[in-house]
Amino acid sequence: MRASQIFIPTLKETPAEAELISHQLLLRGGFIRRLASGLYTWMPLGLRVLRQVERVVREEMNRSGAQELLMPVVQPAELWQESGRWEEYGPELLRLQDRHHRDFCLGPTYEEVISDLVRREIHSYRQLPVNFYQIQTKFRDEIRPRFGLMRGREFIMKDAYSFHMDHASLEATYQSMYEAYQRTFTRLGLNFRAVEADNGVIGGKRSHEFHVLADSGEDAIASCHHCDYAANLEKARSRPAPAETETPRAAERVRTPGIHTVAGQAEHLGISTAKIVKTILVVADGKTVMLLLRGDDELNLVKAGHALDARDLRIASPEEAVSATGVPLGFIGPKEPPLPVPILADQRALSVVNFSTGANAEDLHWIHLNWDRDLPRPPAADLRNVRAGDACPHCAEGTLGIRRGIEVGHVFQLGERYSKRMGITVLDETGRDATVTMGCYGIGVSRVVAAAVEQHFDDRGILWPMALAPFAVGIVAINARKSPEVAAAAQGLHDRLEAAGYSVLLDDREERPGVQFATMDLIGLPHRIVVSDKVLAQDVWEYRARRATENMLLDETQLMDH
Ligand code: ATP
Ligand code: MG
Ligand code: MG
Ligand code: MG
Repeated sequence: MRASQIFIPTLKETPAEAELISHQLLLRGGFIRRLASGLYTWMPLGLRVLRQVERVVREEMNRSGAQELLMPVVQPAELWQESGRWEEYGPELLRLQDRHHRDFCLGPTYEEVISDLVRREIHSYRQLPVNFYQIQTKFRDEIRPRFGLMRGREFIMKDAYSFHMDHASLEATYQSMYEAYQRTFTRLGLNFRAVEADNGVIGGKRSHEFHVLADSGEDAIASCHHCDYAANLEKARSRPAPAETETPRAAERVRTPGIHTVAGQAEHLGISTAKIVKTILVVADGKTVMLLLRGDDELNLVKAGHALDARDLRIASPEEAVSATGVPLGFIGPKEPPLPVPILADQRALSVVNFSTGANAEDLHWIHLNWDRDLPRPPAADLRNVRAGDACPHCAEGTLGIRRGIEVGHVFQLGERYSKRMGITVLDETGRDATVTMGCYGIGVSRVVAAAVEQHFDDRGILWPMALAPFAVGIVAINARKSPEVAAAAQGLHDRLEAAGYSVLLDDREERPGVQFATMDLIGLPHRIVVSDKVLAQDVWEYRARRATENMLLDETQLMDH
């Protein structure tokens, strides 16, 4: 394709609203454009990348035996009332009414719809197991949509749902989905890690998340240096390392200004742990402790205020919070490695900052919490939320480290939760009604695009992994409008490469070579070939891989081999 035939509105300046590198580069490269909060248009180049992700996901889902279908975006409220989630799901569910005043919602997930389909259509154990999937737009009215595609309100997810007669069958499909996910993310060129996402000990049902490892990730994941144990920090439990006991030693440590997670201390503050652990960081100087709430946790913040004393909750300026702690503002960021620290029993104040909108000081909401009564002590437990340096709960030798990750996939054993509530039964071998058991499996298709950029960029732009690249090869035709030889040679090479199965973008614009090169670097095509009068005179092509720093002069056979 010629650059003059595909609209690539690149930007020189980094848009002010974009904080993450992926958001910046996807805007600058003309891949996406913002419509409104959490809503993005896929521009022609971006859509090609999205389709690449879909292609790989689809191939691996089909390979695993899952069957593709496509369900409506709009879902009737009755199904959600049946499952109990019309009440449970909360404000992330965007509800609407039709002209007859009937209630509907925009689908954030499809357990209800697929359950309804299966209870109508599948009647016998002979038809199971079955695994249906779709690649479809989802809508979640996220409390704080941000980071571009990373946390949109409208986004594209692959979701699959499997139905089984018994747990063994669910386990087999779960395993095959897990392996399909491994293949998918490997093919997409991502550095990822599968982590435990559920407390298997208590629930008995399994769940794993797949995380792309990146400092900008919103989730913290704990992994053992020695064995292959890895878990989402929200869920992980571990034993304190032998040397570390509560209080005096810890009390010493809290005096060191720095960024620390408050893992395990959330209950202590009367905040629900499950939600908050991944999102809290603490900065302390011995007098005050600063909690940094990230993400969706405004609600928890309010709860914290209630648990302490809502009347003591006041908004302070960043300067005030900083001067209270002596920690410079620039030091506070999502990328600092979190270290654990307990909150002291005799502590009487907290500075809380809502961190989610970014590095701009004006965007931060700082809140001081003061209280004058003793907080309840955390229950003495053998196991606690993970802290870096704790002993691995799975092997004797290892200790745990904590890294940040972007959740790009999630596999989950639902069991009978939906089939019981919605009455999905089939006839078993003895002719009796049996309740089916379910699994569900999601991939954040649009989030993968952003996550890939977080791992693959340099100071000039994106470095797409081959499987994701919108075009495999970029040809820069220099002075093509003035040199008929260059124009003809570039077009000929373009045609031969396309015939050989490569997708090619031919830059035949009337631009200075510097601009052409900068565009190619920014949009991140893996291979670049320069066609100019100079190289034609030498009967070679000038080739450079996007990741390389040196040009190579190759004749056509060498080029094709390369
Ligand atoms: P998160 O913890 O990031 O909010 P989730 O656990 O709520 O994600 P799931 O219900 O597990 O999400 O959905 C499956 C996948 O969909 C996630 O693993 C993620 O990759 C993707 N996803 C979820 N929410 C969003 C969003 N707001 N924008 C883009 N992708 C999303
Ligand atoms: Mg979510
Ligand atoms: Mg999640
Ligand atoms: Mg999830």
